[in-house]
Order: sequence, then C-alpha cells, then structure tokens
Amino acid sequence: MAELRTLENATTAPAHPAPLEVPSAAQPLQINWSRMTVVVSIHVLALAALSPWLFSWTGLALVFVGHHVFGMLGINVCYHRLLTHRSFKCPIWFERVLATLGVCSLQDTPARWVAIHRMHHQHSDKQDDPHSPAAGFLWGHMGWLLYENRDHLTLANCDRYAHDVLRDPYYFWLERGVNMVYVYAAHAISFFLAGMAIGWMNAGTLVGGVQFGLSLLVWGVFVRTVLVWHGTWAVNSVTHMAGYRNYETREGSRNHWLVALLSHGEGWHNNHHAQPRSANNGHKWWELDLTYQTIRLMQAVGLAEQVVVLTSAPAEESGPVTLSIKDTTSKKRVPELPHEHSTRKAA
Ligand SMILES: [Zn+2]
Ligand SMILES: [Zn+2]
Repeated sequence: MAELRTLENATTAPAHPAPLEVPSAAQPLQINWSRMTVVVSIHVLALAALSPWLFSWTGLALVFVGHHVFGMLGINVCYHRLLTHRSFKCPIWFERVLATLGVCSLQDTPARWVAIHRMHHQHSDKQDDPHSPAAGFLWGHMGWLLYENRDHLTLANCDRYAHDVLRDPYYFWLERGVNMVYVYAAHAISFFLAGMAIGWMNAGTLVGGVQFGLSLLVWGVFVRTVLVWHGTWAVNSVTHMAGYRNYETREGSRNHWLVALLSHGEGWHNNHHAQPRSANNGHKWWELDLTYQTIRLMQAVGLAEQVVVLTSAPAEESGPVTLSIKDTTSKKRVPELPHEHSTRKAA
C-alpha cells in the first residue's frame, strides 16, 4: 500500500502545531467594529428563522440551493480554486459572474479574500498566518476577522498578494468604498422583492406577500450566509486541528469528512495543502469533492479549461509530483505561484 510522504525542504510537521500568539499585525487586539457589526447582525437576523411565521418550504430549499450556488460556486470554485490558486481558466464574463456569487456570500472582496488566503498558505500555522487555530480555536474560526489586522487593511498588502486579481477593473471597483456591500444588499433585496411578488400573487394579500418575501430573505439569504460562513471558517479552524493526514505537510492541516461535507470538498484540507494548485482536493476514491466535480462539469460544457489536476505519480525519489492540465488542447506544464511549494509522493 502506498505510503504518502512529504515535501521537499519540509520538516515533519507535528500532529498539532505548537501554540502561537495571534499575528503581530493584530496586536494589540482591537475590535474591528464594522466587521463585528456585520457578523453579529447577520447572525441575529438569521435567528428570525426560529419564528414559525417566517417559515416556508421554499425558504428552506433556498438554503440548500444557495449553499451550492453562492458558497460552492462563489467561494470554493471562484474565490479559492480559480482566483487564489489558478487551478483552471474560464471566460472572464463567467469568472465575474462566479465572483459576484462570492460577494453575495459576504466573505469580503475577491482581492482581499485571495490575499488573506495566500498569506495563509505562505505562513500556515506560523505566527503570521492570519487564522491559525494554533492561536486558539475561536481565533482560527472567526476571531481573526473580528479584530483589526494591519496587514489586511492596506490596499498595498492586497496588491502585494493579489495583484493579478486587482488588475481586473471589476474586482478593483469592488474595493472602492462599500461597493461590495451594495452588491450583497442588492441580492438580498432581490430575494425579498421576488418573494413578495410571488407571495402576493399566491395569497392575494399584501401581508401574504410580505410574509413570503421575508421568509425568502431570512432563510435564503441570512441563514444561508451564516451556514456558508461557518463551513468556510471550519476549514480554517477544524481542519488544522482534527482529522487525518495523507501527507506530511509543513503545517498541521488535516482531512475531515464532516467539514468536507459541509464545505463541498474543501475539508480535504491536508490534500489541498499538499497540492494547492490542484483543482481536485479528493485524493482517495472516497474523498468526495463536489467542487471539483462541478469544475469538471463546467469543463464538459466549455466553461472551464486547462484544469490542473493531481495525477497519481509513479514512485519517485526526487522531483515534484506531476501536475497535468486536463485539457484536450494543451498539455503544457503550469508554473506554480510564488507562494506555493512542490510536493512529491513516494511509494
Ligand atoms: Zn490551511
Ligand atoms: Zn488554498
């Protein structure tokens, strides 16, 4: 049976990284009041779902549909695998549509999300990791974004880590003022208005319309936003603490089946740290990666190309594992981004 091992220049990582202090750029701790207000408000608004008056089966269905549409397509496919790791290419109009779905998940702008995630890969489980749970589980899960971090505030830092993203005029526009909040608000209002129109028609009363509109807003927007948040945050926190490891990577990343289920494959996080550029995070047959299956579907209908995938490399004593571009027109090797490292897999 193949034994998977380690990285060039890597030391064997401890099962659990030593306790860390929070990043120096976040010290002394100061609450980021605008983010705190947003995070608390959306959680409180989601609690309105406990009211039977606001329940509808359509609203509940929209939680699951929206989890896939906004969470998987917007965050996993676009923000993470496309914009951060360039695991595939797609037409720019489609990329911007996907990025807009990401904005509607209220996880910051594309450029800032990419910059913070590339910092995570560069400094994983070291003090400058923006959200290592080695500085505390709650810090890794959500505390890191509720406190000021000087590295996250400046456009210069964003430009340093995500220059390729900022070059796009649409993504740059999203950086201006609170434009991304307008986009999120517009999609939330759309849910309400569409629901109100349908409810008014069905119930025949304005109150019936408002009730159904609010139901779609609370369930389809606020509950779904909270669900997607915690799925993404669990990748940062849980899968750097709990689960199993296929690879002896340099940080404490792990694969966790429940997080993988909640995050459509992002929970195979040890696999991802071993092969950050690869579009597929599931490296064993039973490690289901719905995000990758979606990228394959996009490829089948012509909306994705040059998909970088991990291929099972033969036993090698040296050299990086083979990354192939799964595309009928191109087999050229893709260079890694500067923040990544080579991995090899030996038998
Ligand atoms: Zn990680
Ligand atoms: Zn990543």
